Amino acid sequence: MILPQPIAHRAHDYAQLIRRWRAICKPANLRMTALHQAGDTTIHCVTTRAVFDNPARIYISAGIHGDEPAATEALITWVERRTGNLPPVELMLFPCLNPWGLINNSRVDALGRDLNRLFHRPAIPLIKAWRSAIAGRRFDLALTLHEDFDAQGVYVYEVGHKRPHWGRELLLAAAAGAMPVDPRRKIDISRPVAPGLIRRRVREGMFRDTGYPEAISLHLEYSDRTFTIETPSEFNLNERVEAQIRALDAAVELTLNR
Ligand SMILES: [Zn+2]
Repeated sequence: MILPQPIAHRAHDYAQLIRRWRAICKPANLRMTALHQAGDTTIHCVTTRAVFDNPARIYISAGIHGDEPAATEALITWVERRTGNLPPVELMLFPCLNPWGLINNSRVDALGRDLNRLFHRPAIPLIKAWRSAIAGRRFDLALTLHEDFDAQGVYVYEVGHKRPHWGRELLLAAAAGAMPVDPRRKIDISRPVAPGLIRRRVREGMFRDTGYPEAISLHLEYSDRTFTIETPSEFNLNERVEAQIRALDAAVELTLNR
């Protein structure tokens, strides 16, 4: 009898993740800086070293929810694959905003907080550090990479000042015939405007009770277009990573051709 081979992954190994980022930064002409010390782990920010004329500016973050490992894995794999061939855009990347969560496969941080509901609270050290790192910046596009254990396929949250909206393109790129689009008629508390596409109309103050997610703070203060990519965390890890990578490629392409 031939037994199936184990799948080797280190998706929750934060030290290994940061070793990969350290190894790739120089050949990819990126700079990694410490953003914040959380217990015995350091949270990093990665930015482009090269200077371009009137560049597009793109923000991408992963790992604020540690039980969504395709996000952190996709971001590093995307950079590794594109090393030497990164798009001519100014990138600001947050490889993993909640290392404790990633290590412990947890949505929350070491203090039991869902950090993605606390972006209106600058007194929290991570939020303070994040705000000072991005102060004064304006992004053409911001992506926050997530996963959802209830999801039946990939879906996208879209909030944006600018038209045309790109959510549909990002969703189709992520799916690409290799992963279903989430068919649910109700996703979390939202009703999609089309299968797998949630378009949020955001007004100042509407998240006062629930707390501000990262994407909403980005939308209100820092970014022309903001998307959250959600892959189904009960699906195969490699398929989820590839879907996230396809969304990243499409997002960069759309921004370059804006
Ligand atoms: Zn999430």
